[in-house]
Amino acid sequence: MCLIFTCGEHTFRKEVEGYEGVVCQCHNCGNYAGHVIKSNPWFTFCFIPVIPLSVHGYHDVVCHICNFAQPVENRPDVQAMKRGGEGGNNVPMQNQAPPPQQAGAPPAGWGQGQGQAPPQGQAPMRYG
Ligand SMILES: [Zn+2]
Repeated sequence: MCLIFTCGEHTFRKEVEGYEGVVCQCHNCGNYAGHVIKSNPWFTFCFIPVIPLSVHGYHDVVCHICNFAQPVENRPDVQAMKRGGEGGNNVPMQNQAPPPQQAGAPPAGWGQGQGQAPPQGQAPMRYG
C-alpha cells in the first residue's frame, strides 16, 4: 500500500472590486495591458487548499503581455483610477445631470411691428 501526499501552493487570482475594467500601463514593457489582480496564495494538501498563506492576499498590477507583477501599493496612478476609492478625491464622471436646456425666453422686441395697418385702399385712377 502506497499513499502519496502532495503538498504545494496554489494562488487564486481574481479581479479586485473597484478595479474592474481598469487598464494601466505596465512599468516593465510599457504596454497598457496591466490589470489589478488579487492574488491569494494557499497551501495545498493533495491539491486541496487548506491553509491560506496570506489573510488578505496581495493586490498586484499584472501585465497580460509580459506577466510582470507589481504591487498596487507602488502604483498611486493606478490607485487613483479605482472606482469609489477610499480617498474620495476621484469623483466618477457618471450619473451627472445633463446641462440645463436653454430656457425659451422670447427675444426682446418680440411682438412689435406686427400690427401694421394694411395699406389704404387705392381708388382707381380715373381719366376723363
Ligand atoms: Zn508588461
